[in-house]
Amino acid sequence: MIRIAQPQIGEEEERAVLAALRSGRLAQGPRVAEFEAAFANHLGARHAVAVSSGTAALVVALHAHSIGPGDEVIVPAFTFAASANAVLLAGARPVLADIEPDYFTLDAERAEAAVTPQTRALLPVHLYGHPCDLTAIHRLAETCGLLVIEDACQAIGASWLGNTVGSSGTACFSFYATKSITTGEGGMVVTDDENVAARARVLRNQGEHERYVTEILSGNYRMTEIAAALGKVQLAKLDGWNANRRENAARLNELLEGVRTPQEHADAVHVYQQYTVRVADGRRDAVQQHLRDHDIESVAYYERCLHQQPLYQELGIGGSFPEAERAAEEVLSLPVHPALTDEELEAVAAQLNAALSTSGARRA
Ligand SMILES: *Cc1c(COP(=O)(O)O)cnc(C)c1O
Repeated sequence: MIRIAQPQIGEEEERAVLAALRSGRLAQGPRVAEFEAAFANHLGARHAVAVSSGTAALVVALHAHSIGPGDEVIVPAFTFAASANAVLLAGARPVLADIEPDYFTLDAERAEAAVTPQTRALLPVHLYGHPCDLTAIHRLAETCGLLVIEDACQAIGASWLGNTVGSSGTACFSFYATKSITTGEGGMVVTDDENVAARARVLRNQGEHERYVTEILSGNYRMTEIAAALGKVQLAKLDGWNANRRENAARLNELLEGVRTPQEHADAVHVYQQYTVRVADGRRDAVQQHLRDHDIESVAYYERCLHQQPLYQELGIGGSFPEAERAAEEVLSLPVHPALTDEELEAVAAQLNAALSTSGARRA
């Protein structure tokens, strides 16, 4: 089976984890601090605060910016549910806006139309590893006096206008098993604001400023030493893996026929956490079945927009988002991970092309 994701765990990772296990210190120790420093340094960011997941990073970042009850946060209608769930978990209300069809990211004009007097922040998502139009998003934020909290869970190492995502402002990352680098479960809040970083450190640890002195309500969002040990080793390999992903994506772009391949904005460096094509005309299920029959895994990230989720319908969070809906019907992510061989990439492309030509293909 050619898998959609394959964590790259080698001897170095095994040694680092074993050393952490043998160190006698399993939480809140030197490895977490070292991973934070290395991550901040790698991105060119000022502060990094390690947490237990990408979702935790978003919740902590929202809290750290004092976003909560009564506040609205604008989220793209097409994203992983965690982006908006985090807003709800922080006690605020997600307000949805449509996406740009070329990049699957928050459309700043649509976001502007969703701004109300209650809006506190924009939460753009760098979906699949492609940064959103940060120029337009920051312009809107400035015009309307809004904060920007980036969901960069899929975009570790991506950049916009030469600046690595997370090198300014506040951004959240995930190290879940399918992400570009992994700690099993894990996340990071990255910020250039010292106060936000200080608050995030308190918020990840029961809201305690001092040991056992609770000042603000929060939970336990700490990262383990074991996870941090893994993360530090993985981080050193990130650039090489991102380069592999970009090469794999370029090869697929070359070989695929009859589908709309991923676009890369002139100001962006895409890191292809996912390589996502559009399969139009309701043929996605047939194409996926054909790939499965040929031992190739593919996934539709995501088949439902947020406003199509039962929870969001129950909460009355909706609107009209035609581009998000079209994306949900058409997207299909193909294997692009760094461990793929040339033969495997060629097989993915050949079988996708074959699936399209047998299911009554029409050029997308
Ligand atoms: C993975 C992901 C998250 C959540 O990260 P976890 O580590 O799984 O909690 C949030 N947003 C996006 C876009 C993601 O891909």
